[in-house]
Amino acid sequence: MVENSKTPQLDELESGPWPSFVTEIKKAAAKNDMSKDLLGVLERSYHDKIGHWKHGGIVGVKGYGGGVVGRYTDLPEEFPAVKEFHTMRIAAPSGWFYDTNALRTLCDIWERHGSGITNVHGSTGDLIFLGTTTEELQPTFDELAENGFDLGGSGSDLRSPSCCVGPGRCEFACYDTLDMCYDITQEFQDELHRPMWPYKSKIKMSGCANDCVAAAARADFSVIGTWRDSIQIDNEAVKKYIEDGMDVREVVVKKCPTRCLSLSEDGELSVEASECTRCMHCINMMPKAIKQGKEKGATILVGAKSTIVQSAFMSWVLVPFMKMEAPYDEFKELVNTIWDWWDENGKTRERLGETIYRIGMGRFLRAVGLEAVPQMVYRPRANPYVFWPQDQIFAEANGGEN
Ligand code: SF4
Repeated sequence: MVENSKTPQLDELESGPWPSFVTEIKKAAAKNDMSKDLLGVLERSYHDKIGHWKHGGIVGVKGYGGGVVGRYTDLPEEFPAVKEFHTMRIAAPSGWFYDTNALRTLCDIWERHGSGITNVHGSTGDLIFLGTTTEELQPTFDELAENGFDLGGSGSDLRSPSCCVGPGRCEFACYDTLDMCYDITQEFQDELHRPMWPYKSKIKMSGCANDCVAAAARADFSVIGTWRDSIQIDNEAVKKYIEDGMDVREVVVKKCPTRCLSLSEDGELSVEASECTRCMHCINMMPKAIKQGKEKGATILVGAKSTIVQSAFMSWVLVPFMKMEAPYDEFKELVNTIWDWWDENGKTRERLGETIYRIGMGRFLRAVGLEAVPQMVYRPRANPYVFWPQDQIFAEANGGEN
């Protein structure tokens, strides 16, 4: 075990009420020098107020262009055991379901070949192996492959698709996120392992608008479960919530972003379905009384990302509703068309959203063969650039008759 006196600043991080990553690295340091030197580098970084890690070149395994991130310390003489400290990304099962046997297998492989330190899971969605040498990369990968595991994405490739637990544990799932994530991962193996684009591309799947994988904030393609018809209200159950003390008017009706709900004096809840934006708020508040509609599928959004060329973007609606059933051909075709356009038009390190932003949504839509629809516009009724022809409004109001 590393002596406390040698890492005074790290030791501070063990003093609070929460589990500490420092304690875990110290446990690993009792077994290997890599983890011991990792503590040393970290302590120095806190002291010097700079990170002592650098990129030192491309490393990888045979046949793959991604999945390994090269890491080297800039203090190799002082901390020789982390001279090379590469990260490996292990593709996770859909919804991050492992059995204990799988976790033991992974940990055993990693203790044989690397620092033994893992990050379960990284923000990429992969299971992360933190720290090994260049020499150990291929043997680690070979052993992973023998046990049925694969590497995830890194660099300018498709990053490992990820999804929420969906129907595995959640009644709100509007489609089978687990199945779709697996299917998409198998379909796009080439794109996942061979960097080929201006920059990275991410597909993330959430079963409903609660968006537990935060797809709308970070994925180039966000697949968010939704429904096409009306929410279903059980007014007996609404009355039970009221009897039990819930102020339904305050916490549900008044919080509806489109004001599409109304509550009568005798506690009957009703919805103007054409105004509902399917945000999930009322369902989250009263899951026993309100259910999603019956015709389920997903909304496809594009363009979310963190800050790189431009600032951070949230995603835009591209297809308001798509049936989401195996073999997901419509979705795959759309993704391939968009990737082709982005590959032709994107600049280096420009994410899909940035390319659309630079070139223009209109040109992008024409290029990928999609019509502009009101759902693409934030608050279309309050947006002075959206025109609503009178005849179209009358036609909609009259059920299609002018
Ligand atoms: Fe459930 Fe929706 Fe969260 Fe998926 S995103 S786990 S369906 S609440």
